[in-house]
Amino acid sequence: MSSHELITAARKQGRAALDELSGKKLLAGFGISVPRSLVIPDAAGAAEACAKLNPPFVLKVVSPDILHKSDVGGVKVGLHSASEIEEAIRTMMLRPEIARARVDGFLLEEMAPAGQEVVIGGVRDPQFGPLVMVGLGGVFVEVLADVSFRICPITRLDAEEMLDELKGAPLLRGARGRKPASREAILGALLRVGGAGGLLMTHADEIAEADINPLIVSEHGAVAVDARFVLVKRD
Ligand code: ADP
Ligand code: MG
Repeated sequence: MSSHELITAARKQGRAALDELSGKKLLAGFGISVPRSLVIPDAAGAAEACAKLNPPFVLKVVSPDILHKSDVGGVKVGLHSASEIEEAIRTMMLRPEIARARVDGFLLEEMAPAGQEVVIGGVRDPQFGPLVMVGLGGVFVEVLADVSFRICPITRLDAEEMLDELKGAPLLRGARGRKPASREAILGALLRVGGAGGLLMTHADEIAEADINPLIVSEHGAVAVDARFVLVKRD
């Protein structure tokens, strides 16, 4: 499915945002690595699905009603077997927020290699069109608002400057005992999202908000493990 077809399909289903798997397919179409994954309807699908993927696995609830999956117990990392997956699904279904949500299924995916968490985002400004954002994951974005923005399309030099102006930039280079995160991999992902011919420019009329949170960046590469795309409202 082309990236335009993914968006059209979501609109036909009346969705305001792409589900996580569609969001990841959109990213993959622009050359951004995402984990191998499958959606299973319920615990009965666990054995077959996990035979097709390599452990360790992550399990996530798929629901249009749940925005922050881990806040409601909808993400379980480090699973190794079908029985652990079945158990995790049963536990999730008992969570009140999940029990009362519309559940489309469960996303079973391979765990990304360990690394630092980076956030890449996009918003659509009515005047300037798409803007691209980068920051470090977790408290850096949520509490400290250590992020940098540019109007799209960005050049490689813009992407370099965006990274360098983050207060947390030394952490990406390996400060405080961290393993350095591949700068090339982050720059590559930023350009694929915000560069000329990138995701935000290509879908400037369709995507209201983009959020890759997080992109997990090791010394060798980067994997987008969560993706959310809110569509521009149409009447
Ligand atoms: P939420 O909706 O809560 O943002 P995420 O899909 O971002 O859910 O998952 C929560 C956290 O779990 C991520 O921030 C990341 O630390 C970890 N995680 C999720 N998917 C993976 C994965 N495939 N590999 C490794 N870690 C993951
Ligand atoms: Mg997330």
